Amino acid sequence: MARNIGAACRRCRRENLKLFLKGDRCYSDKCSFERRAFGPGQHGQSRFRKMSDYAVQLREKQKVKSMYGMLEKQFRLTFEKAEKQKGVTGENLLVLLERRLDNTIFRLGFASSRNQARQLVRHKHILVNDRKVNIPSFLVSENDEITLKEKSRANPIINESLEAVARRGVPSWLELDKDNYKATVKAMPNREELTMPIQEQLIVELYSK
Ligand code: SF4
Repeated sequence: MARNIGAACRRCRRENLKLFLKGDRCYSDKCSFERRAFGPGQHGQSRFRKMSDYAVQLREKQKVKSMYGMLEKQFRLTFEKAEKQKGVTGENLLVLLERRLDNTIFRLGFASSRNQARQLVRHKHILVNDRKVNIPSFLVSENDEITLKEKSRANPIINESLEAVARRGVPSWLELDKDNYKATVKAMPNREELTMPIQEQLIVELYSK
């Protein structure tokens, strides 16, 4: 499956926000956003000029796409799905993004970034309700049980990541049983729990043009 492989740190500097795309590095003093707090490229230092409404909406969408590691087509399809659901489209969109299996694995701390989580899913390290699932866009549902495959439990990268999960915490819609490499989806995520600064209404306005 295609994915965005543009320089991760460059994207953070472009959006003027830490997107946490590179795992542990993002929490260290090696984070290039901390070291160079200005945009990438020749005109990076002058990027804080006034933007048009369209540019503001576009940047918001690009930011969220980068955060969840998605390409335009996938993102647009997710938006269309959100639009068809009952309720507020922007909130539906964020909940659908959060429910993705790759994001859930990242939130649980089995991986230190969504990119790493996607690799774990694709390489069949993850079971959902005792069945192998290798589709990163799979949507988890309430009461789903997520387990790390027995053979993968000695993987040092996964264990290091689980040790570090305390740093960012597990959201309350998930329950992690770290000792048994297992988790349960206690409820669907809700908007209040998503602490990243996202103005989803801007994305709705952009796609509604
Ligand atoms: Fe963004 Fe992480 Fe790179 Fe920092 S280290 S700029 S948070 S991807």
